Amino acid sequence: MTGAAIRQTFLDFYQARGHRILPSASLVPEDPTVLLTIAGMLQFKPVFLGQRERLVPRATTSQKCVRTNDIENVGVTARHHTFFEMLGNFSFGDYFKEQAIAWAWELSTQVFGLPADRLVPSVYEEDDEAFAIWRDQIGIPAHRIQRMGSEDNFWASGPTGPCGPCSEIYYDFHPEQGDQKLDLEDDRRFIEFYNLVFMQYNRDAEGNLTPLANQNIDTGLGLERMAQILQAVPNNYETDLIFPMIEAAANLAGLNYATAEDRTKTSLKVIGDHIRAVMHMIADGITASNMGRGYVLRRLIRRVVRHGQLLGISELFTPQVVEVAMQLAEPFYPEVRERDSVIKSELEREEIQFRKTLDRGEKLLAEIIAQGPKQISGQDAFTLYDTHGFPLELTEEIAAEQGLIVDRAGFDAAMEEQRQRAKDAHITIDLTAQADLDALLMDLPHTEFVGYGQPAQSAKIL
Ligand code: ATP
Ligand code: MG
Ligand code: MG
Ligand code: MG
Repeated sequence: MTGAAIRQTFLDFYQARGHRILPSASLVPEDPTVLLTIAGMLQFKPVFLGQRERLVPRATTSQKCVRTNDIENVGVTARHHTFFEMLGNFSFGDYFKEQAIAWAWELSTQVFGLPADRLVPSVYEEDDEAFAIWRDQIGIPAHRIQRMGSEDNFWASGPTGPCGPCSEIYYDFHPEQGDQKLDLEDDRRFIEFYNLVFMQYNRDAEGNLTPLANQNIDTGLGLERMAQILQAVPNNYETDLIFPMIEAAANLAGLNYATAEDRTKTSLKVIGDHIRAVMHMIADGITASNMGRGYVLRRLIRRVVRHGQLLGISELFTPQVVEVAMQLAEPFYPEVRERDSVIKSELEREEIQFRKTLDRGEKLLAEIIAQGPKQISGQDAFTLYDTHGFPLELTEEIAAEQGLIVDRAGFDAAMEEQRQRAKDAHITIDLTAQADLDALLMDLPHTEFVGYGQPAQSAKIL
């Protein structure tokens, strides 16, 4: 089944069950508490909170999402992207747990045809009700239902706001290993693909939970992950949703993905992933800059250029690879073609500019090396990185060619010092405040989604 067919099948399934198909919201959220749209529920947050009247009792969407907290995982795990599509079904005070679980199960087993004995549900450790539904109504043997803590199974879009216990469905790639020990953290064996959130609380700034006026359902099924499962490929990147961009980049570099070494594959995966993210971000009106969303965009483009360079691509390539991504996306997201020239010229400008940065950095480094140091000092490497945007790995690579090492500890110390300075300047916002925080947000270069229950941190992008 193609990615496009999986998307349509999901939407049709829920439409046939009384859900209105609604468009994806922009990657630039109305919600001021997150920098980019990180989940399908975001456009419905005011409805969950009772701040906005529901339009319909049930809705279904394919939502464009960008999660910068997963950037380090791109090309490293088989399942994480910066940009991905989250398929969701939503109930606004209409159906609840029992119905949501029953439909998720029906969709997974009857429509997508996944064998029941390859599916493992998780529930929040205190949620006996969800446990009982899986056991008694769906018929899952009790020992296969996994109880998990709040880290995994209590979902919230941020430190404050609507939240609730959730129940996830995992796919088992290796059922032959038996079900004595089902370790859902083992991602060589399991992949989480569907999360059902029972949205029933609001968390305030002090961390207190109060019940929402309604019991709601908010779900997310990762399109690329379902594609990986149904297309029987070893990772999300080799699905028809992303592989065409990988092939395009490989062709430009004169490489063959299938026989390439792991490092090369990782570079190709980074390009395949990030090119979709930047295409949709620009289509949604973001331009590269040094703050906020524009900064995220710039860093993603730079990573693409850098990995292209690692592959030996010397010509301007980002507009060519994005064309492939556009052809794939436009049937469902026509806005990308509508913004064709904006997207390509933004990429062209950023690529040319960053290639200059790389050239300049290489020159500066050559001057340092010409002085005959015993090693490249941490401070020099940090200045190249921080002031000139020159990636550390590149400094290390070039130094190594001259038989020199980079003082990594010194670099880390300089980085830590800078982090500390940034932390001291950190602003805490009351996310429950009704005031318009947009202006403030734009001044926060590193605000981003970092997962739940974790302290905010800025992602190391290059
Ligand atoms: P994981 O534990 O694998 O990081 P998650 O628990 O953070 O996933 P949720 O917040 O529950 O993910 O999001 C709902 C669904 O969206 C997930 O079950 C998954 O299918 C998909 N998803 C989440 N993050 C990503 C990502 N970075 N790339 C691709 N799909 C994702
Ligand atoms: Mg998870
Ligand atoms: Mg989850
Ligand atoms: Mg995650």
